[in-house]
Amino acid sequence: MEKLIQSKRDTFNAICYVIKALALFFCFYPLFDEFFQYSAKDSASQMSVRSMVISFLLLILVLSIWLVLQPNQTMKTWRRWLEISVFYGICFASIYFSGGYNSNYKFLFIFMVVTYTIQYGMKYGLIITTAAATTLLGMDLFTPGVEGVSASFQSDFAMSIMFGIISYILGRYVRLETEHINELMRLANYDGLTNLFNHRYFHEAMERQWKLTQENNGSIALLMMDIDYFKMYNDICGHQQGDRILTLIAGLIRENTRADDVCCRYGGEEFAVILPDTGVDEAGMIAERIRMAVMNAEVEGEEYLPNRCLTISLGVAVNDRDDANYNEMLNRADSALYRAKYLRKNRVETYQNVFDRFEDLDEKTKDALLSVRGLVGIINVRDDYTYSHTERVVFCCDLAAKYIGLTEEDSRALLISAYMHDIGKINIPREVLISNGRLKEEEWQMIKRHPDAGKTILGQIAGMDAIAEIVAQHHERYDGKGYPNGLSGDQIHPLASILTLADSFDAMTNDRPYQARRSYKDALEEIRRCSGRQFNPKYAALFIEAIEDELSKDGSDLRKT
Ligand code: GH3
Ligand code: MG
Ligand code: MG
Repeated sequence: MEKLIQSKRDTFNAICYVIKALALFFCFYPLFDEFFQYSAKDSASQMSVRSMVISFLLLILVLSIWLVLQPNQTMKTWRRWLEISVFYGICFASIYFSGGYNSNYKFLFIFMVVTYTIQYGMKYGLIITTAAATTLLGMDLFTPGVEGVSASFQSDFAMSIMFGIISYILGRYVRLETEHINELMRLANYDGLTNLFNHRYFHEAMERQWKLTQENNGSIALLMMDIDYFKMYNDICGHQQGDRILTLIAGLIRENTRADDVCCRYGGEEFAVILPDTGVDEAGMIAERIRMAVMNAEVEGEEYLPNRCLTISLGVAVNDRDDANYNEMLNRADSALYRAKYLRKNRVETYQNVFDRFEDLDEKTKDALLSVRGLVGIINVRDDYTYSHTERVVFCCDLAAKYIGLTEEDSRALLISAYMHDIGKINIPREVLISNGRLKEEEWQMIKRHPDAGKTILGQIAGMDAIAEIVAQHHERYDGKGYPNGLSGDQIHPLASILTLADSFDAMTNDRPYQARRSYKDALEEIRRCSGRQFNPKYAALFIEAIEDELSKDGSDLRKT
């Protein structure tokens, strides 16, 4: 849309420049003609050819300077007025030297009136009209040596009125056209309900800002947000009230962001804000401000929602030097939002890759992680469930690690293992992974081999032995009935026991092709029931406490009144 409008503006400007060039030519011509009459003894026809050629050459020179200066619609006001003054001076000189009140070139002013009205509007047209009328009528009235009023006064007066009428009509037309364009832009770029920018504009602005940021080597942040339990809210309070809430939240987003931030309605009840020149800390603060503002807003019917107040979850991401395009940042913000939604919502999550988390890793381990990261990328592309499942398992392991108080080294090993735990599935055909029927015996065997396959892959990378072992054990059971090696009790690595809990919890709480999901509460109950058989009882108890602790935080404790 903007490109279309810009091309229309460019066409108008091009027309104006052609008219101005023509006008300049007509200005130069009488000037040179007059000059040669004094200086040359040539015949009149030779003079006029010479004037024409010189005018033409001078015109080319002026146009070249013009192009170098690159005048455009947005040029500074003082440059506009300088251009107008120079143009006016040339017109005036031409008329003055070609006979003053008697000149045949008084029409030159009309070029100025028309072009500047088209380019800059009625105000400019009327100012130029006033200047032109004053000049023409002034010459008629005050030229020395002329008795009284010159004979041209009447026609000049008519001409001045004509200038005025032309600038008025043209100015009105230009104003209508501008209003029309603005309305079209508004319709094309804004969301009708919330008056924020729409999805289409979001991508346009994102691409523009992204390019700008890349060029300046700067930073840019993105917030993605999604209202919590909004379907439920609509069901309870009705869609019209739901619409009011969307408008209210849009207002809160605008109030809590800065003037240059681009606030958009990304989709149904999803919003996005582009934050130019913003680092991760500032973006996090703005996100938190929005979260608090939504939570603190008094909203009709909010007491029926699970959090007992209307809340919003936010994902934050910033640009990365390695990003190929803005979509990568968008995916990261989406990932962060997904994480913010997990378990209890009403949270701000900043995207952080498990690999970026341990800055003090030695180079060798960093290299090892980098090669494995590529493999995980392949799985992610292949199977969306495995990808989001991995993210959630990492999240639960992180919660558990913090709750249990694992050492930094153990936490790191647990998180990396969680991230890698399904790497052995890389050899399993996609149809088997997403199968919704009962698996055939050989397919089941294939699935059962994935912990060992993972161990083999990770074992080939230097420094990954411990992680390879944890991954190998993540389907072992406390009672020894697990696979692949039937280890039991303390034979199983404690970190593998925690990983098994997180893996199972996530499998239970998400829809799989072969089973419907359970609620978090039911899943924890199931873990409690299987503690001592499937799960290590010590870690099962701690894991349940860690998740219950997280679920008990609905964020309303942070409410400021
Ligand atoms: P979650 O907490 O996980 O985000 O759950 P949710 O219910 O908010 O999300 P879900 O994606 O299941 O539902 C989104 C709901 O948003 C569905 C629809 O009723 C509502 N919605 C989307 N667009 C509009 C709209 O323009 N007006 C109204 N009133 N509701 C909308
Ligand atoms: Mg949604
Ligand atoms: Mg939602």
